[in-house]
Amino acid sequence: MDPFEYTRAGTVPEAIGIAAQSTTAQQGAPVRFLAGGTTLVDLMKLGVERPTRLVDINHLALNKIERTSDGGLRIGALVRNAALAHDPNVVRDYRVLSEALLSGASAQLRNVATTSGNLLQRTRCMYFRDTTMACNKRNPGSRCSAIDGDNRMLAILGTSSHCIATNPSDMNVALAALEATINVQGARGTRAIPLDDFHLLPGDTPHRETVLEPGDLITHVTLPPPRTGATSRYLKLRDRASYEFALASAAVVVEVTGGRFRYIRLAMGGIGTKPWRMKAAEQALTGAAVDEGTIRQAATLALRDARPQSANGFKVELAKRCLTHALRLATGMASV
Ligand SMILES: Cc1cc2nc3c(=O)[nH]c(=O)nc-3n(C[C@H](O)[C@H](O)[C@H](O)COP(=O)(O)OP(=O)(O)OC[C@H]3O[C@@H](n4cnc5c(N)ncnc54)[C@H](O)[C@@H]3O)c2cc1C
Ligand code: SF4
Repeated sequence: MDPFEYTRAGTVPEAIGIAAQSTTAQQGAPVRFLAGGTTLVDLMKLGVERPTRLVDINHLALNKIERTSDGGLRIGALVRNAALAHDPNVVRDYRVLSEALLSGASAQLRNVATTSGNLLQRTRCMYFRDTTMACNKRNPGSRCSAIDGDNRMLAILGTSSHCIATNPSDMNVALAALEATINVQGARGTRAIPLDDFHLLPGDTPHRETVLEPGDLITHVTLPPPRTGATSRYLKLRDRASYEFALASAAVVVEVTGGRFRYIRLAMGGIGTKPWRMKAAEQALTGAAVDEGTIRQAATLALRDARPQSANGFKVELAKRCLTHALRLATGMASV
């Protein structure tokens, strides 16, 4: 690991002031915030991240979960994944979020990993993590080794000829279905960014992953009030039962009355270059009868733009089955 300067930030303005001196908040940033460190320190050991200054934000008062005045939820950036997953309000009103968090990593990692760190975790593409290999995300313009290489785990939606890496987070998928807002404080004030606008598609700049600018500190995430009568579920399919990233996952929030979908939000993970909202499928299902045929048709529609690579064609059918079964679980058509 390269040498770096360490600062323990005592206040939010102090943390922002130091980070604002960075040339970028994206790949190659010379200044990084340190939260749980479970992504950042790993990547520093591998030489993928080489910050010269770390700003430890663990002592900032950003670790509370609170009800908002409109009945929604405010989640501090430093709330640990385990605390969020087991919070009584989350378990009762946002089950999809609790299930997504508990499906990720291990109990030990969830005790340390934070909400903001999880939002910003980096891809698990093996070429990104191996500094001997060409990778446009790590080293812009160097080539993408995965397109003609081992791409079994990688994306089928939102890819470009420059990068096909998946966003690996489970939490992000649940936040997409819940229409969360990411609240940021930076050198030029505060911003509230809908989750859908927070992560960027790779296009021809895969090293730019989010809309964050130097100095931007995520302070909290807000969730809208839970919808009365709605249920929500998260289903994750992977190569082994625990401690593994998703091949395909689905977050669903549904309200059913009179045998029809009245409200529906769908997002998927493991298949997209960012957390992927399935808006066409949501529209097709709204008002439709809750039955096997309708759900399967919507899943087919959801994957219509999929562009598989040489080794991940299986993900198209897997993702359809994942979404179909998550909808069965949320509507009571299946119990396991
Ligand atoms: C072995 C292993 C298995 C895993 N399995 C899964 C899995 O199955 N599913 C899953 O979803 N995740 C998984 N993870 C990823 C894990 O969830 C993330 O590493 C973790 O959530 C990151 O949080 P952190 O607080 O440790 O982030 P850090 O490593 O501290 O930070 C990550 C990034 O976010 C930035 N950052 C942190 N906080 C802020 C802030 N407030 N404002 C601006 N920038 C900030 C940091 O500068 C850094 O760039 C796994 C990780 C490991 C090591
Ligand atoms: S898919 Fe993206 S992260 Fe992986 S090698 Fe290609 S450019 Fe790098």
